[in-house]
Amino acid sequence: MNILVSGGAGYIGSHTVRALLKAGFTPIILDNFSRGHRESIPDGITTIEMDIASPEVVNILQRYNIKGVMHFAAHSQVGESMMNPSIYYENNVVGSYKLIESARKAGVNHFVFSSTAAVYGEPKEVPIKETSPLTPTNVYGRTKLIIEEMLSDYSSIYGSTYVALRYFNAAGADESGLIGEDHTPETHLIPLVLEAAMGKRPHITVFGTDYNTPDGTCIRDYIHVSDLAEAHVLAMNYLIKGGESRVFNLGSGNGFSVKEIIETAKTVTGIDIPVVYGERRAGDPSTLIASSEAIKDVLGWNPTHSELSQIIGDAWKWHEEHPNGFGNKKDIH
Ligand code: UDP
Repeated sequence: MNILVSGGAGYIGSHTVRALLKAGFTPIILDNFSRGHRESIPDGITTIEMDIASPEVVNILQRYNIKGVMHFAAHSQVGESMMNPSIYYENNVVGSYKLIESARKAGVNHFVFSSTAAVYGEPKEVPIKETSPLTPTNVYGRTKLIIEEMLSDYSSIYGSTYVALRYFNAAGADESGLIGEDHTPETHLIPLVLEAAMGKRPHITVFGTDYNTPDGTCIRDYIHVSDLAEAHVLAMNYLIKGGESRVFNLGSGNGFSVKEIIETAKTVTGIDIPVVYGERRAGDPSTLIASSEAIKDVLGWNPTHSELSQIIGDAWKWHEEHPNGFGNKKDIH
């Protein structure tokens, strides 16, 4: 069964392509390679270099007899979204609208969408449930929320079905060590800590030590990218079997502070990583932890890779074996 994977050459998309193959689906990748990596695509996978907004997408969906769409293609940097909102509205909102509309025209009725915990903004309760208030505090989160709402409207009006997955902190890499996280610029904590361990950066800076948490540093819910990928496959199977449209959080349900991440990375790598204590980063909530009970109950999702030492261990394997990521390209997603 053919599944179109938009952004299949990106970090989470490329891991999901492998999960789809393992589950017996045939992934067809749609990527414009503005930020994705050709090197992340397994041999023999049909790959179409095209923007999600292209009117040609309707023909692709029909020609390949696509059963469902997994939609990852997006810009995903919070900081960038606050400096350059237009590319987020253009690429995420307009691009997704065009893709959703192409799917409608082609009669493709199932959508699994890559959403984010950023739709909640500053949390009103911890752990965060899907019913928590939706008050994004940045443009990136707002664009993802708008796309969720668009999918909901299409679902009620046209009868198509979707699952939106609100990711918490995706991290780690495929156990094979062949693919992993490679963003330029890199802004995420775990890859930055590991780059400091490798000597690619002089140190890791901790953003704020005066938060209302046990050790004063921010707490996040880190989820292994392979567990995330598995959830997408379960969601697609659920939709194909007739499941109704749903929104699910995707996190491990465990929170770790920035200091705990650095300590675990020191243990995993055996390297005494240099640390500098700095100011808070604007817009960082102190604690984000998911309630992922709904996806466990409804889809039977069971994260098996999300022990912190495994997340950091798999990421370390990828970084050690690929000190320059997939290469030295600029502007990589
Ligand atoms: N963080 C940090 N130093 C860095 C990058 C991130 O202390 O160089 C902190 C950041 O303030 C947040 C946590 O690490 O509390 C996770 O940040 P990341 O950017 O990885 O993900 P986010 O939670 O922003 O999606």
